[in-house]
Amino acid sequence: MQILDGKIVSQAVKDSIKEKTVQLKAQGKKTPHLAAVLIGNNGASETYVASKVKSCEEVGFKSTLVRLDAEVGEAVLVNTIEQLNNDVDVDGILVQLPLPKQINEEKVISLIHPDKDVDGFHPMSVGKMVQGLPTFIPATPYGILLMLEHYKIETKGKHAVVIGRSNIVGRPISILLNRNAYPGNCTVTVCHSHTPNLKEICLQADIIVAALGKPQFLTADMVKENAVVIDVGITRVADTTKKSGFAIKGDVDFANVAPKCSYITPVPGGVGLMTIAALLMNTYNACLQKEVEGLKLKV
Ligand code: NAD
Repeated sequence: MQILDGKIVSQAVKDSIKEKTVQLKAQGKKTPHLAAVLIGNNGASETYVASKVKSCEEVGFKSTLVRLDAEVGEAVLVNTIEQLNNDVDVDGILVQLPLPKQINEEKVISLIHPDKDVDGFHPMSVGKMVQGLPTFIPATPYGILLMLEHYKIETKGKHAVVIGRSNIVGRPISILLNRNAYPGNCTVTVCHSHTPNLKEICLQADIIVAALGKPQFLTADMVKENAVVIDVGITRVADTTKKSGFAIKGDVDFANVAPKCSYITPVPGGVGLMTIAALLMNTYNACLQKEVEGLKLKV
């Protein structure tokens, strides 16, 4: 069994981005710039955004953090996104999800200019991804692809089972693993909360992507020998032994599943770190695309 180490792979991706950013600057080109919008003070969202901003610093990007009150009205958020869309210096915009209930998530996502949609959630980005056209791929699925690629894991002809069909993880990774490219060319089964025979399906899987948000859901009796297991889940579970008062748990019962696997991602230290590395890749590419197109504004 080999651990798919998000720390090592994300560092390798970040080192390469850092080097390319130094070269951009040496050529007198603009510095990639990510703008993050954080609404309210959800603990997990605070942590995610803080690590995204810190990672920007690490690779030499500019970052802007726009903080809005939890009670903010939709009009203010719309205005904030319009300003970021119109700011030629900003290459990538992300709005940290989930949003407070008074805000329509779909509307907000579709307001982000597709050229700056580094989270890859805009309907135009999703449509292009489905058609296999060049676009921004959502960061978590993109991070999983980078991980599979780094460890040269064979995917062609494999049966991949994805548990979860959300727009940010399950659905896009199912589409990407099914595309005619590497990593891809899998036969994909997508399972969800209404799938009756989940264990039976999982037992047929060469690759399992667990993205449902239920701690330690995938148990050893659901996994065949030598499967590749990708654990996307991140759930905070109360733990009085920790200073923070919680522990982070994945969707996989790691201790019992790992011995059966050929490869497995740990939580923490797996997909979460790759998500940030992928976001940086998208931001770098957004900046480069703008350079190629001559810094024109297309809003
Ligand atoms: P979501 O709640 O939007 O979707 C969960 C999906 O799981 C749904 O499609 C649902 O049908 C399915 N599901 C729920 N219970 C199920 C069951 N018993 N059997 C089969 N399917 C079931 O969640 P999400 O946003 O996709 O996130 C999933 C998990 O991944 C969460 O723990 C989240 O925190 C984590 N996450 C991690 C990263 C990362 O960077 N590692 C990024 C995004 C999300």
